Amino acid sequence: MKHEDDEFLSSLGFDSLAVRAGHVRSSEGEHSEALFLTSSFVFDSAAHAAARFSGSEAGNIYSRFTNPTVRVFEERLAALEEGERCVATSSGMAAILATCLGLLQSGDHVVCSRSVFGTTNVIFDKYLKKFGVSTTFVSLTGESAWAAAITPATKLFFLETPSNPLCEVADIAALATLAHRHGILLAVDNCFCTPALQKPLTLGADIVIHSATKYIDGQGRCLGGAVVGRQKEMDEVLGVVRTCGPSMSPFNAWVFLKGLETLRLRMEAHCDNAEHLARWLAQQPEVARVHYAGLASHPQHELAARQQRRFGGVLSFELKGGRDEAWRFIDATRLLSITANLGDAKSTITHPASTTHGRLSPEAKAAAGITEGLIRIAVGLEDIVDIQSDCARGFAALQG
Ligand SMILES: *Cc1c(COP(=O)(O)O)cnc(C)c1O
Repeated sequence: MKHEDDEFLSSLGFDSLAVRAGHVRSSEGEHSEALFLTSSFVFDSAAHAAARFSGSEAGNIYSRFTNPTVRVFEERLAALEEGERCVATSSGMAAILATCLGLLQSGDHVVCSRSVFGTTNVIFDKYLKKFGVSTTFVSLTGESAWAAAITPATKLFFLETPSNPLCEVADIAALATLAHRHGILLAVDNCFCTPALQKPLTLGADIVIHSATKYIDGQGRCLGGAVVGRQKEMDEVLGVVRTCGPSMSPFNAWVFLKGLETLRLRMEAHCDNAEHLARWLAQQPEVARVHYAGLASHPQHELAARQQRRFGGVLSFELKGGRDEAWRFIDATRLLSITANLGDAKSTITHPASTTHGRLSPEAKAAAGITEGLIRIAVGLEDIVDIQSDCARGFAALQG
């Protein structure tokens, strides 16, 4: 498919774009996307090299700047998120860092959700702080707290929805309206939903962040990230990536762009399994509470139903007991992988209070709702009866 043909491209549906967008065949005529595993590119002559370096001729120079396989991934993800431009990065954290380095400067202020990925919190609270960028952390769901945190120096709102591990949901459109009233950009980490379930740019967000490591890969093989948005802001992000170096490896881009081809189908299956498991867990006497936006009992169920196509593959639940019970439950499972990763075909089980959120103080854990009895499951693609039986082993271990 010729990627120059924007009109044809914009007539295609999500699944067609996921399979076709960005693919330009090389002179070999290969059907599947080629992997350009090369660090640099050669020129026909000295004058040709000079033209490429000066920018008077577009084209590849060096894979820290551009690489054809990485470009296919970028164009495909941009099409799926309905953004003008995507910039691929070496990891999800590199996507967040490149966004901040590109769009913020010393003296600027950020308002960030308290319930972001733990390492995201450290980027803002430790590293950006060293360079004079300050951050106020607020509740994801308290719109008035976002408004109250705005100062004349505020340049960026940053959030993740649904949140990890409690599946809280932010109103993207409402926060975009608030941000834009004050000339602030809204960045949404869309890692949990992916564009198959939620498109923040269409709801008013300015920037979408991805850890491609999760559902975009979908099989736990590679680290990668991406930033999607308007050309203007993405030019700044691209400048950071090609200068500072957190570029995506062509090999990883090739894995991810094949991942995008099955993304929607996989997300449907993750959602089917998670919805089923959430309903079943909610009926178990040992469970105090299930956190999953697909349950009618979830405080932002209506909002999630409006804003997301479905509710995603990650859920968490609180046992009536504490850490001892949670660890016994986890250790009794045989199928689920005990790992903090998510977005994998393999279901994973985690105790947030002692792993992903382990470095928080007891007060911070309490404020964030990370109780000792909380267990997170990133529901994979195994048979749901087997996932459920594995959880039944966990419940059985709590007896006696
Ligand atoms: C994993 C994750 C990240 C970080 O991505 P890496 O690829 O591990 O650097 C950022 N945000 C969310 C929501 C994540 O789950």
